[in-house]
Amino acid sequence: MSPVLSAGPFSAWLRAAREALRTGAGADVPCGDCTACCASSYFIHVRPGETATLDALGKDALIDAPGLPAGHKLLGHGKDGTCPKLVENRCTVYAHRPQTCRAYDCRVFAAAGILESPDKPRINARVEQWRFDYPTPRDREEHEAVRSAARFITNNAGLFPEGRIPGTPSQLAVLAMKVHGVFLEPPRVPAETARRIVEASRAP
Ligand code: SF4
Repeated sequence: MSPVLSAGPFSAWLRAAREALRTGAGADVPCGDCTACCASSYFIHVRPGETATLDALGKDALIDAPGLPAGHKLLGHGKDGTCPKLVENRCTVYAHRPQTCRAYDCRVFAAAGILESPDKPRINARVEQWRFDYPTPRDREEHEAVRSAARFITNNAGLFPEGRIPGTPSQLAVLAMKVHGVFLEPPRVPAETARRIVEASRAP
């Protein structure tokens, strides 16, 4: 069995993760020598303003991002799901890696109590290793609120307007993190909870 990994105190992690999402700043993840997310068949979004990154990656590694305005690109992966910039288990463009890579934090799945999709077994192995700490009762309450949000959204998809249900596990985990405050409030009927979730998801 794989050893457990400390994911840190839950409430401190939640605040930092939400701030990273809000500002676009990078996440401070104790990855160690893990490169699972660089070898899990992700298409990595690179925004037009990331000029140093676009130069470092080179045109040949990028494709136009479908459905997004001109200038948005995707960094693809090889047949085995590995990023072309990962060589001998090291990122060869680390100083200029995309914002998407900087922001990635697989603890979000552990926070929401879910796994990534089954085609990403290395990520899921890592997710199962993370353990949060609960230095105060609030840490535990907030973690339960994030898990409750993920469960509610999954089990009540019919209560949400079209387009408001996350299409991927990572979108679900991020949404659960964002709207968890709804589950720290007194319980409501499901339709009202769904309405509050939509409201909370619109917050910056
Ligand atoms: S650019 Fe670097 S950090 Fe991003 S997926 Fe590729 S190897 Fe990993």
